[in-house]
Amino acid sequence: MEEKKDTTRNYPAIDTHFHAWTKETCKSYKSYGGPLFSYLYHKTFSDQDFIDFHPTEEEMVSKYRENNCVGMPVGWDAETVTGDPPVPNEFIADLCKTYPDIFIAGWVCVDPNKGYKAVKEIEKGIEKLNLIGVKFQQAGQFFNMTDSKYAILWECINSYGVPVQFHSGYTGLGTGAPGAQGVRIEYNRPFPYMEEIAGKYPNIKFFALHVGDPWVEELNAIARHMENVYRECSGMWPRYWPEGMWYELNRRLKEKYVWGTDYPLFPIDGLLKEMRELEDPKGEKGFRNDEIRQNVLWRNAINILKDDFKRVGVDLSRWGVED
Ligand SMILES: [Zn+2]
Repeated sequence: MEEKKDTTRNYPAIDTHFHAWTKETCKSYKSYGGPLFSYLYHKTFSDQDFIDFHPTEEEMVSKYRENNCVGMPVGWDAETVTGDPPVPNEFIADLCKTYPDIFIAGWVCVDPNKGYKAVKEIEKGIEKLNLIGVKFQQAGQFFNMTDSKYAILWECINSYGVPVQFHSGYTGLGTGAPGAQGVRIEYNRPFPYMEEIAGKYPNIKFFALHVGDPWVEELNAIARHMENVYRECSGMWPRYWPEGMWYELNRRLKEKYVWGTDYPLFPIDGLLKEMRELEDPKGEKGFRNDEIRQNVLWRNAINILKDDFKRVGVDLSRWGVED
């Protein structure tokens, strides 16, 4: 009998969350750089070290190409908090236009504290720049998403029905600095913030980025409870993922977790190596089987975002999706 080969293993992995921070655009989060990099790399970075750490645009593209991986870039704007110049959303759109085989779709990033300017920026990002959805980092943007003054943002996003990514749990921003540079991780907490907004806008797909520590169980509960809440898993090496995350990802949430890297803060090749190696028949420290691994690496993203990908013109035939 002929052995059936699983060709899906060769499908490109889909990195749903990475930062297009190059040597040029990294100045957009320079104010957070010092404490963040001490936290991530356990050494002090000078201003020059900070720039040197970041890839050029070409290096960024080849990282994805070399690893048979496609990415969904996002910029950064916390200007009202830090005074740093934002990454223009036009830059994100240009990346997707220039390298459509590598950067399949990008996210709009706005500074929520810019009020109507932020609304206009979302409108432009969706209507003119063909971006797929909107991303927030509540703690780093000093953004309490349930505060009624931000309702104009949610109403705008809801009118387009596009997906949203928000940060969840711990953040390296502010870590170890006095008063954590004003960053409040509370705003990244699932209860009550995310549950309230995701419940109020059931037609928006919400992706809770990162592991969500120390509120992994809270996030899993919301993702199980609400059809429109999904999970992502960047920001921590897979070998350190908490057992509660592996447990649900291998069982009740096996169709709700998507992959992300937080590149360039984490290296794509190292993360992919762990994603491909970690295995555990009990599903407590690794993938219970290869099908679940492929779910997280690309299949869930395709299933969840299929219509959104089509709207921005992504060719899904590379993942075996017929029109
Ligand atoms: Zn991130």
